[in-house]
Amino acid sequence: MIKYKLTCKDCDIMFDSWFSTSKEYERLKKKKFLNCHICNSSNIEKTLMSPSILNSKNNVKTKILNKKYKQAKETIAEYQKFVKDNFDYVGENFAHEARSIHYKNKKSSKGIYGTATKEDLKALKEEGIETETLPWIKNTAN
Ligand SMILES: [Zn+2]
Repeated sequence: MIKYKLTCKDCDIMFDSWFSTSKEYERLKKKKFLNCHICNSSNIEKTLMSPSILNSKNNVKTKILNKKYKQAKETIAEYQKFVKDNFDYVGENFAHEARSIHYKNKKSSKGIYGTATKEDLKALKEEGIETETLPWIKNTAN
């Protein structure tokens, strides 16, 4: 015999019920043989209340967050590698180089990347030069 705490989704009461096995519970629920004593609803659910479940859930959440953070970091690292492979690094001359490409129609097979101040980026934008800011991790081992 197995005792379950059941709850009625309609009137929100809780009651205990005995079943021969957990399969018996599933079987009765499927056939809508489980009814609320108060409102006769068959909208009955088994309640899950266990502090250990809460703890393990928290751990899982932390694990997922760590994994996501790691993945995001890896994605940025991959992005950085792509940029390094496909763009020319111009360092702090970024604004200057961006202008020379834009105004002198300088043909460059590669794009450029480098550092620019917020003011630089704002000025470039006003001149119609679209730039993109990337998340960048410093000191990656490469
Ligand atoms: Zn009910």
